[in-house]
Amino acid sequence: SAVFAKPSRPVVLAVANQKGGVGKTTSTVNVAVALAQGGLNVLVIDSDPQGNCSTALGIEHHTGIDSTYEALIGEKTLAEVTLPCAEAPTLRVCPATIDLSGAELDLSAKERREFVLATALEEYFASYPETHVVLIDCPPSLGLLTINAFAAADQVFVPIQAEYYALEGLGMLLNTINKIRDFLNPKLEIGSILLTMFDKRTNLATEVGKEIYQYFPQQLLGTAIPRSVKLSEAPSFGTSIFSHDPRGIAALSYKKAALELADRLATATAN
Ligand code: ADP
Ligand code: MG
Repeated sequence: SAVFAKPSRPVVLAVANQKGGVGKTTSTVNVAVALAQGGLNVLVIDSDPQGNCSTALGIEHHTGIDSTYEALIGEKTLAEVTLPCAEAPTLRVCPATIDLSGAELDLSAKERREFVLATALEEYFASYPETHVVLIDCPPSLGLLTINAFAAADQVFVPIQAEYYALEGLGMLLNTINKIRDFLNPKLEIGSILLTMFDKRTNLATEVGKEIYQYFPQQLLGTAIPRSVKLSEAPSFGTSIFSHDPRGIAALSYKKAALELADRLATATAN
């Protein structure tokens, strides 16, 4: 299969959108697998207590398993809780268990509580400097888990469902990112926007797509992900779309979007 462009240093992407059900987890999983199958060294951090991302990648995540939670509270290093994934030899996953729902409370008493993930990742990169991309699957809420992801990230990767309220949600996210930039992470920016569940036959989807392009011509990826039943089925088999329906339009779209993303990241890190 094709070899993708590689960034010259690790790039951390927080996959975020304050709305739930817009395709954050689906995009994290399938972009990560596409990048890894394209030859990049990829780490996925499941930072949603629901653990949907772990499920979809076929990673066990029952309570008692070392997970993102142990890494955040400092009981384990990220490297220690990270597991290989059958989808690609260069893909590793840091699973989320339900324990993660207690992390916000545990962290709230900590000093520099917004930076625990950033610090854990710095330590990880010291051991694995050849990492190319880290994708952090964020929960929909703007709690300490998401704030930690924003503080650790170079870029926010924003999946957007092309529907009426999409732009309103994007405005909220921009306000949040501005605040994070002011107080926690001056380099944070929206790197890429991906239209998900896109139905090109409806005027609304096309209009919303145009409008997003108007405001974010640099960020909007040229490839939109179509609505596909195969995408919603894949997690129940614990696999990405590349195992479940490798030749379908959904797999092709995620592969194209990941290829675009890899090109951007390679360009952004070339000096
Ligand atoms: P989030 O992480 O933002 O809450 P998910 O990725 O879990 O969103 O997606 C929400 C639901 O929509 C899931 O059931 C998922 O399987 C489904 N879904 C996501 N993307 C698509 C798509 N392109 N086509 C059809 N269903 C999708
Ligand atoms: Mg999710």
